[in-house]
Amino acid sequence: MTGSFYPPQRTLMGPGPSDVPPRVLGALARPTIGHLDPQFVALMDETKALLQYAFQTDNALTLPVSAPGSAGMEACFVNLVSPGDTVIVCRNGVFGGRMQENVERCGATAILVDDDWGSAVSVDKVAAAFAAHPEASALAFVHAETSTGAYSDVAALCALAREHGALSIVDTVTSLGGIELRVDDWGADAVYAGTQKCLSCVPGIAPVTFSPAAVERIQAREHKVQSWFLDMQLVMGYWGGESKRSYHHTAPVNALYALHESLLMLKEETLEAAWARHAFNHRALVAGLEAMGLSLAVDAECRLPQLNAVRIPEGVDDAAVRAALLRDFDLEIGAGLGALAGKTWRIGLMGHSSRRRNVMTCLAALESVLS
Ligand code: PLP
Repeated sequence: MTGSFYPPQRTLMGPGPSDVPPRVLGALARPTIGHLDPQFVALMDETKALLQYAFQTDNALTLPVSAPGSAGMEACFVNLVSPGDTVIVCRNGVFGGRMQENVERCGATAILVDDDWGSAVSVDKVAAAFAAHPEASALAFVHAETSTGAYSDVAALCALAREHGALSIVDTVTSLGGIELRVDDWGADAVYAGTQKCLSCVPGIAPVTFSPAAVERIQAREHKVQSWFLDMQLVMGYWGGESKRSYHHTAPVNALYALHESLLMLKEETLEAAWARHAFNHRALVAGLEAMGLSLAVDAECRLPQLNAVRIPEGVDDAAVRAALLRDFDLEIGAGLGALAGKTWRIGLMGHSSRRRNVMTCLAALESVLS
């Protein structure tokens, strides 16, 4: 292939990225300006305020890391975890496992709290882990496990961490904009997200926010963060409020136009309306799937509306169905991940993909392919 690349027009109903609305794609195509241009700096300030709204926080240290969700994860760990620390890590899917990797690569010990894939993190098990490890300085868990479609109780888990003098590190990559998330009210300390899920922006940016307690720990560090790029003390010089903006790295200028636009759309809709839309379309999808004889793999009490894990019926060829959906309907749904590979499909209703039209398209296409 030596010519320009023109991607097909897909309907994205997998685990992300989700459909990007034309308004966001339009913002991406606006003229590139300098990343220290006064007009761009004004856009940065507005983007920060919009992120504070999306996260429901007043945290001053709230910014988009110029890299994907995994870099947001890493930014939280490398800044808050030091060699010799103990961190309680909850594992109920793929991304808890990735958190464990991060802790160990920081030279700390991960105390694992395991729950079944498809279940919420057990608050009781975490309480027992704190009782057994009073030295734990942080608790890390995933709000919305994209690999399984289950969500956990952020408020209860963060309260436990606080009770034990530990900071909470919370993965909200799939939850931000899709289900209720209140960083300040729930007392979460270090929170990271992604742009390609319920914000329906292009992939490659990781919004993060740090509480005053987290900032205090960062400032009290006795040795340098091992990552230069993700060292928040350095990043603050570029994104920080009061100080003069100084060069740290070249920001992804156009991607940040897109993020600003998608956050603006969320603010216009309001968070509450966005959460209600995700819940409504989820109920419609589930009703249709059940009418077709399909069932969901996650119990209703911890089921994510934006990520639906559907049991693959006995005798059905997982990969062949997904390939037919893509070939015949330009429809992408996700395969099962990790322990759920080959057992579930993951149907995303995230952000702009969470629309009535997509629900109907998906149900009709699945019916056609399965019949
Ligand atoms: N955490 C969760 C819960 C995710 O779903 C993902 C991506 O799917 C990530 C972290 C990593 O994000 P990224 O793929 O943007 O690096």
